[in-house]
Amino acid sequence: MNSILIIGAGAAGSVVAKKCAVNRDVFQKIHLASRTLEKCRKVRKECASDITVSQVDADDTGQVIRLIEEQKPHVVVNMALPYQDLTIMDACLATGVHYLDTANYEPKDEAKFSYTWQWAYQDRFRDKGIMAVLGCGFDPGVISIYCAYAQRSLFDEITTIDIIDCNDGSHGKAFATNFNPEINIREVTQRGKFWKDGEWIEIDPLSISCMIDYPQVGSRKSYLIYHEEEESLVRNIRGLRQIRFWMTFSDNYIKHLEVLQNVGMTRIDPVMYNGVEIIPLQFLKHLLPEPSSLAENYTGKTSIGSVIRGVKDGKPVAYILYNVSDHAETNRELNAQAVSYTTGVPAMTGAMMMMKGLWSGHGVFNVEQLPPEPFLEEVARQGLPWHAQKLGEDAYQELLET
Ligand code: NDP
Repeated sequence: MNSILIIGAGAAGSVVAKKCAVNRDVFQKIHLASRTLEKCRKVRKECASDITVSQVDADDTGQVIRLIEEQKPHVVVNMALPYQDLTIMDACLATGVHYLDTANYEPKDEAKFSYTWQWAYQDRFRDKGIMAVLGCGFDPGVISIYCAYAQRSLFDEITTIDIIDCNDGSHGKAFATNFNPEINIREVTQRGKFWKDGEWIEIDPLSISCMIDYPQVGSRKSYLIYHEEEESLVRNIRGLRQIRFWMTFSDNYIKHLEVLQNVGMTRIDPVMYNGVEIIPLQFLKHLLPEPSSLAENYTGKTSIGSVIRGVKDGKPVAYILYNVSDHAETNRELNAQAVSYTTGVPAMTGAMMMMKGLWSGHGVFNVEQLPPEPFLEEVARQGLPWHAQKLGEDAYQELLET
């Protein structure tokens, strides 16, 4: 029986479970486990068909091993936090089960956003005859697969990639993050970085910005930040000379973030408070709305794509590949906002590729190393249609000039 184990019943994990539950031809047995059993039960009630649930602490490899032995899944989809990547990978190794996630491993005490630790599992996964698929959300994930497709079908050589990520939605809260607050704030407050002519160039956080025209949204101020898929795309896209990642942040978001940073609330080192050690950012996470709670009344769209330049048949060419999702529509379909929808649907689709044998292999893979066509066909069917539009020479001039 085709069986899937999903770990993590948060905003994105609940989308994976709900989407699996409408694809019972592929996922015959679905089990959702997370740190808080109540959250799994809530997701279960919202699934279109019955799934089983249980409690697990995925920081404990032994608990994950026992869960895998009980459930006997074909694949474990890790939708918990990046801190749990290695313990879950260790459990998959011990039990000989495939693994998929949407975010690179992070040590708790330092924001790194690097695949180094997970790439180190390559030989062990290969020798065990199992597969680990890394970064199968939207970015990393669908964006990386757009790049793989472009490399195969649209270009002879890709020279530059600009990943452009806009959430133009409004959730009506004073300040909230669209995915796990701890990971989001670590990502945005770290130093920025991009890759050019064979080296990484570091910049102060949010110190480079420009206006970018997003499909179906319009021109929005966007900031250059570092994002983990750049590390693997530099390895896997031939001839690449530059890769950058741009994200929109509202002035309101930046204002709150600045104040929180200035008063020390985004620190990830321990601080003594009333005789107890606390991590300020973890405390802040407890005060902020959960990303899964934002869906109701969320309006507006996400518009995320890759602007790719290169050469085809000896001539310069440029394309944008993108998806636009609407918060209200994703809420209507799955009771989820678009950021968690665009993360969970690709994770479910990746697991489907593994179940069907359309993605196979032994070792650790970033998604752009796997066949893009069957994934892109399926992900469009599952709710994330995509577009590849040829661009004129002077399109996205703002990117060319920055
Ligand atoms: P949430 O905080 O909403 O959900 C995380 C879930 O993991 C929670 O239910 C949490 O449990 C559970 N969890 C945390 N620690 C453990 C543990 N030790 N054992 C078991 N369960 C645990 O986050 P999101 O759903 O927004 O994000 C999930 C993942 O998706 C993150 O890794 C994030 O970085 C990634 N992501 C990837 C994107 C992409 O495009 N690639 C985009 C957005 C997110 P509890 O409820 O008890 O806290």
